[in-house]
Amino acid sequence: MAKVVKSVESMMKLSDGFRKKGLSIGFVPTMGYLHEGHISLVKEAKKRNDIVVVSIFVNPTQFGPREDIKKYPRDMERDLKLLSRYKVNAVFAPAAKDIYPTGYRTDIEVKGLSEKLCGASRPGHFKGVTTIVAKLFIIVKPDVAYFGEKDYQQQVVIRKMVRDLNMGVKIKSMPTVREKDGLAMSSRNTYLNKEDRVKALVINRSLNFAKMLVNSGIRSSAKIKAAMTRLMRTASGLKIDHISICDPETLDERSIIKGKTLIATAVYIGKTRLIDNIVINCA
Ligand code: AMP
Repeated sequence: MAKVVKSVESMMKLSDGFRKKGLSIGFVPTMGYLHEGHISLVKEAKKRNDIVVVSIFVNPTQFGPREDIKKYPRDMERDLKLLSRYKVNAVFAPAAKDIYPTGYRTDIEVKGLSEKLCGASRPGHFKGVTTIVAKLFIIVKPDVAYFGEKDYQQQVVIRKMVRDLNMGVKIKSMPTVREKDGLAMSSRNTYLNKEDRVKALVINRSLNFAKMLVNSGIRSSAKIKAAMTRLMRTASGLKIDHISICDPETLDERSIIKGKTLIATAVYIGKTRLIDNIVINCA
């Protein structure tokens, strides 16, 4: 089993030790309930660093008041078993009360990027993400941290935070890992019943359809969004939260598709919010 570190102080000491020995630390922050998407980050970290630290922490500050953090799937034993296969050096699994002790008052927010896309319907979400990631960087002291492109906006916001605050941590993004039928892997997929699981396939299909339309010469974002909306509406009960066609760095919406472009969407299937995206490159 991987070594589990619960206290902030012990994790800091452990990382100090690694650093003193000149060992490079690769870090994979997660909320647990691990799947192949997480594992792809762990494998990359393992390949490129002397030491790999994975954190498992369901961060309360990134959940909205109407989002049920208690229901978020957890299975520490299973996660640890899985991680032991990849010989990670430490699993940092702190308690919320140690990360945010009574009287905690400090937040980090990347203004301008945090309010867009998913931030519009999840106010405060990215502030919670950047605050916890900054704290984890301070505690774990990684050289490189690994994030998934599935949460595209998240890695954009984190890259900006790292640059703006001169954090000196390299950020690496890895491609979205999908189920055989195209659904992006997510811990939240466990919320879906059989029927909803089938409906969820329309998300990735609509992104691929968008790509096909762009490749066929359509450049109007409005037209692409309308086509995606029509396709997604074939799944009964699916509610579109947003479809964004935007610059992949600034996240500014683009009315005409040109160059490298992010098409990102979030939908609700019942109460489950699922996200996915595709990056296209066109003349
Ligand atoms: P989470 O546990 O959902 O907070 O995710 C932890 C990290 O794993 C984040 O950097 C995610 O972007 C990444 N991740 C989640 N799902 C996938 C996936 N299907 N493919 C690649 N990375 C993923």
